[in-house]
Amino acid sequence: MLNVPSQSFPAPRSQQRVAFGGRSKVPLKQGRSLMDWIRLTKSGKDLTGLKGRLIEVTEEELKKHNKKDDCWICIRGFVYNVSPYMEYHPGGEDELMRAAGSDGTELFDQVHRWVNYESMLKECLVGRMAIKPAVLKDYREEEKKVLNGMLPKSQVPDTLAKEGPSYPSYDWFQTNSLVTIAIYTKQKDINLDSIIVDHQDDSFRAETIIKDCLYLIHIGLSHEVQEDFSVRVVESVGKIEIVLKKKENTSWDFLGHPLENHNSLIPRKDTGTEIVKPYTPVSGSLLSEFKEPVLPNNKYIYFLIKIYHTGLFTPELDRLQIGDFVSVSSPEGNFKISKFQELEDLFLLAAGTGFTPMVKILNYALTDIPSLRKVKLMFFNKTEDDIIWRSQLEKLAFKDKRLDVEFVLSAPISEWNGKQGHISPALLSEFLKRNLDKSKVLVCICGPVPFTEQGVRLLQDLNFSKNEIHSFTA
Ligand code: NAD
Repeated sequence: MLNVPSQSFPAPRSQQRVAFGGRSKVPLKQGRSLMDWIRLTKSGKDLTGLKGRLIEVTEEELKKHNKKDDCWICIRGFVYNVSPYMEYHPGGEDELMRAAGSDGTELFDQVHRWVNYESMLKECLVGRMAIKPAVLKDYREEEKKVLNGMLPKSQVPDTLAKEGPSYPSYDWFQTNSLVTIAIYTKQKDINLDSIIVDHQDDSFRAETIIKDCLYLIHIGLSHEVQEDFSVRVVESVGKIEIVLKKKENTSWDFLGHPLENHNSLIPRKDTGTEIVKPYTPVSGSLLSEFKEPVLPNNKYIYFLIKIYHTGLFTPELDRLQIGDFVSVSSPEGNFKISKFQELEDLFLLAAGTGFTPMVKILNYALTDIPSLRKVKLMFFNKTEDDIIWRSQLEKLAFKDKRLDVEFVLSAPISEWNGKQGHISPALLSEFLKRNLDKSKVLVCICGPVPFTEQGVRLLQDLNFSKNEIHSFTA
């Protein structure tokens, strides 16, 4: 079982905040503070020397990297190249060198078990330790009965031949109420569109797209789980985490038993899966001068769909031709138009395609709410090219003085002189000023799950009540 510390970084009482247990800190050179380290990790510099590849590391290979300028350390099965971090380590270089070229888990736990190394060293991740063939053999019989922790791929007849530096793997860990299945895809360009998760009763199936193949996890779970689950993607390390909620808060001894094709890579063309994905319909345009095209039955639904080229679903949509069919369900959702009654201030926080629910809200608010005084949209994107309908938004804000639009970029080019960064208390407190102390306010928020969750927390911190916040969740 993988036991990954879950605190945020730096955790309270961590080495980064205090010298703990009498251990002394080594004076760091100028420009080698924690903030400098964070800046370096965000600079896009290749810190592993592997150009973004994640590899499987054998013990022999690990041992070779035992010098200051070439130092790999294994912590809980993950191997990090810590050479770039040497000068930033508050405990000093010699302390880190004690674990050079070896498994430093025990040493790490003695000294700073509470540090969220996963986040701090994520750009230094080289890959996972390879499973020793001898261990693999021992486990094979076991896996027929149970799946416990990260077991090898014995269900696939030619698995051993297929194993290699880029073969995906999985693992699981649990808390009292949750079970997390972590899939290590060993490729960095994955996103939520790369995975389909399906579970019914005790059968759990996850298909992850990996180049031209699907990596399948297919398990009869040992205990019951609730219907809803969440999926997180850590793009930078190619990890997918599927979080299941236990029906009963008991500790599981094992994850379950393998079902057909469990833990195997199969060519994508061999599978046929019906995919259901929620999309928010939008309008044809934000501008009133837009004229709908004339089609025979005069019925339209507009969608704004981002094509993730490495994804499972959207490339298929992209390939559709005029005359092809897709099935569309009846609408779902819980947004009530009554929230707009007597509304004076409307704030919209959108990130990426999370802009889509804001389209109809904007259209409606600016035409049908007489009490409305101000609408403010803060639109978060990675780059300028990602801003959906930028010119329409700018035109609309120019025409209707009640509307203000602010773009915030998380990965701008250096010439960008607008707002930068991720959603934060500083950005929100400045942006969310009510017109009057007691004005009737609504804040709508939509975007990637971590964005929305963080945004809702910040809004609550800023004293917006539950009734004043509506978050859209896919
Ligand atoms: P993206 O990856 O391009 O990111 C856009 C912006 O979101 C980033 O610039 C950043 O500011 C913010 N962001 C991203 N990850 C973040 C994180 N971990 N923490 C804080 N902020 C973060 O976004 P995208 O690819 O366009 O994805 C949009 C998301 O919105 C998808 O997950 C989609 O499912 C969701 N969505 C939901 C609905 C709905 O619930 N009705 C509708 C549309 C889109």
